[in-house]
Amino acid sequence: MSTELPITTPDFKELGLIDPIMRAISDAGYTTPTPIQLKAIPQVLGGGDLMGAAQTGTGKTAGFTLPILQLLTQKQAAGSTVGRPRCLMLTPTRELAAQIEESVKTYGKYLPLKSMVIFGGVNINPQTSRLKKPLDILVATPGRLLDHVGQRNVDLSGVEILVLDEADRMLDMGFIRDIKKILALLPKHRQNLLFSATFSDEIKSLADGLLHNPGFVEVARRNTASELVEQTVHLVSQSHKRDLMSHLIKHHDWKQVLIFTRTKHGANRLAEKLVKDNIQAAAIHGNKSQGARTKALAQF
Ligand code: AMP
Repeated sequence: MSTELPITTPDFKELGLIDPIMRAISDAGYTTPTPIQLKAIPQVLGGGDLMGAAQTGTGKTAGFTLPILQLLTQKQAAGSTVGRPRCLMLTPTRELAAQIEESVKTYGKYLPLKSMVIFGGVNINPQTSRLKKPLDILVATPGRLLDHVGQRNVDLSGVEILVLDEADRMLDMGFIRDIKKILALLPKHRQNLLFSATFSDEIKSLADGLLHNPGFVEVARRNTASELVEQTVHLVSQSHKRDLMSHLIKHHDWKQVLIFTRTKHGANRLAEKLVKDNIQAAAIHGNKSQGARTKALAQF
């Protein structure tokens, strides 16, 4: 007799999201929250600051957008105000800004909240006109936002929630001074969310100055190679592959190299070739004894 444990898949319902948001999620065709959503949504709903180590592709946007929509809905005292957003989402690029605002509109379609996106490289006038209408959520790139601040088109003194998305890329692109200028315009008391794929000292110091007792959520990107790994392809004929491998290792002075081959025989031949060229190497595969495999791994 076999006893089967019931399989419980996490459900959006358990996250305590309100009905208009649940309906939008269902319209989008999502049935199960992603890991970052499971972790981030309750923490953001709780009102605390959050530091998220997550890349695009993990469902991170919904992870912060869904609870923010809910908080803004629940805290909405008066209606939306002209040119005075309650939530500011800063992103490094116009593509990302546009994408995030798309998500805000998608997930907020059954809510009365108003959003808009601001980025540079396009005519400023349509943005200025849009800022003369009621607004709750502003998604922006830092430079163009400061242009609007300079022209007094936007008032950041009502921001209750700040999101810094892809903070590492913003710093890489030289936005740190702009970000600091923007931070100085925000009310002291607010909720802060910072997302970054990497955590350099610069990011840590930004986070230290920004976040108060933050929660921390971390997820790896799904099914993609790490951005930290450089990948190259060499197109060479079969007969030159072993020579090239040997040359690359010597030329770059690589100290620890893991090589995958298509066949067991190919692994043996490559290892022999490398040893002949005075490169310490061993092959492991299913035809080797466990002892030989353990020894090869230990030497590695
Ligand atoms: P992001 O990492 O926020 O850029 O999201 C990556 C993609 O995943 C987007 O196309 C989303 O529409 C999609 N997505 C986000 N959350 C879910 C979910 N819970 N189920 C299925 N797809 C999702």
